[in-house]
Amino acid sequence: MSAQRVSVGGIEVDTRHFINGVRVSSPTTFEDRSPLDWSLKLADVSRGGAGEADAAISAAIAAFPAWAALSSDERQIYLYRLADLIDANVERIATVECLDMGMLEESLRLRVIGRGARNFRAYADLAANYHARQWDSNTTHNTVLRMPAGPTVVITPWNAPFMLSTWKCAPALAAGNTVVLKPAEWSPLSCSLLMDLVSEADFPPGVFNVVQGLGEEVGAALVSDPRVRRISFTGSPETGRRIGVAAAKNLVPFTAELGGKGPFIVFADADLDAAVEKAALMYDDAGQVCLAGTRLIVEDSVRDEFLARFTVATERHVLGDSRDPKTTISPLIHPDHLARVEGFVERAIGAGDHVVFGGTRLRDDGLWFTPTLIEPHSNDADIVQHEVFGPVLTLQTFSSEQEAVDLANSTPYGLSALIFTSVRERADRVGEAIRAGTIWVNSFLIRDLTAPFGGTGVSGIGREGGDYALDFYSDLKTYQVKEGTTNG
Ligand code: NAD
Repeated sequence: MSAQRVSVGGIEVDTRHFINGVRVSSPTTFEDRSPLDWSLKLADVSRGGAGEADAAISAAIAAFPAWAALSSDERQIYLYRLADLIDANVERIATVECLDMGMLEESLRLRVIGRGARNFRAYADLAANYHARQWDSNTTHNTVLRMPAGPTVVITPWNAPFMLSTWKCAPALAAGNTVVLKPAEWSPLSCSLLMDLVSEADFPPGVFNVVQGLGEEVGAALVSDPRVRRISFTGSPETGRRIGVAAAKNLVPFTAELGGKGPFIVFADADLDAAVEKAALMYDDAGQVCLAGTRLIVEDSVRDEFLARFTVATERHVLGDSRDPKTTISPLIHPDHLARVEGFVERAIGAGDHVVFGGTRLRDDGLWFTPTLIEPHSNDADIVQHEVFGPVLTLQTFSSEQEAVDLANSTPYGLSALIFTSVRERADRVGEAIRAGTIWVNSFLIRDLTAPFGGTGVSGIGREGGDYALDFYSDLKTYQVKEGTTNG
């Protein structure tokens, strides 16, 4: 096998970009290693720069008129074909993404990768069933038309790279836009497999492109190109700000799905077992989940009981190889990220916070970090106010509903929140008062793809999901015809 196609867990993966329907290599590469075993180099991946960004955007521009001119029904045929191919390749994609990103293979196989196929089907259906809003006023017939916006840049993070990329590319393509996707440099391989499927689904060249490389190189070149008509980003608030500045320079609409520091509120009237079971899930994917409720905020009368049961539930976690179905906690993605998580815990200890359990690496020769619970010395503590993006939760208490709401709203984030209570009216009051894009009551991660998704504060700008995404990837046009205008 040439260096351009490598074997990853027995699956052949192309390490080159996919531009204008063909594989293109760069003179330089970046190394991609496996979090399961850092000594294992998976690939030397083509490292794009300004030239590759220019080529991919030029291809997307050239392909745009014909793709935009197709009816939604015609585009649906391509998107369905791609969805079917994803379904047929779930095992292969899961194998590669597990090695590349570290996420549990079983979860990828049973849940996460299939969601990519559902994204393409759901948006193909939504676009095909769109009914233009029409009404009469002031002696005019008014119609709102959704026009494809143009070449779109999608930039995605390293956690759940396949699912998150499809979540953004599917509505962009369904709306009639052409796409240049840049996956994160720590886990680019599953998006390369996606391009094999795009090719197999016979997409016209240039409609769906991937360029690989570093954010500050090819990423920055893509988002600052004035020919781009939409930018969709998922990642950290710091990068979101940078991309926002680039988008503003060219007056390009952008959405940003950013970090989270979700509150996980447990009232004394809650089903404690259910709350504990869900709280233990906050360590899943080694805590590398933006939507996780990482701040446990528990009513003081049940704090001890909750903590006792939560400690037992956490002890059931198994840290290990993500390919083993018995493993429940994977390693962190990268030694730099492990060092970042460790740094948070060390600073917390230095600031006088109390480590209830965990707080250490599992062993020196791996990237596992033990599930950690910290009682902060104050709500202003660094560990409460900043996203760790690792298996580190905090525990705080409250004595009134208002105090729970105040604590929930006391960080600059606003992505998600979880509320556990058996009283519906309380859930409704608290849910309405909490500033967050998504609220789960007695539940977690249930998603209807037609619902809006996004964050407030430093958790993001704009909403994707359902028609909200299709509107973002479109130029809405108000079309007005004076009453009495006749044919011929
Ligand atoms: P990151 O911001 O470091 O990188 C995200 C992407 O941006 C990568 O592809 C990177 O190469 C690219 N990038 C970096 N600098 C760039 C620049 N100047 N111009 C253009 N692109 C650039 O984020 P990460 O570490 O990969 O991901 C973790 C973060 O993502 C966490 O904060 C997490 O909460 C967040 N996240 C949010 C959601 C959500 O839906 N809100 C989902 C998943 C992850």
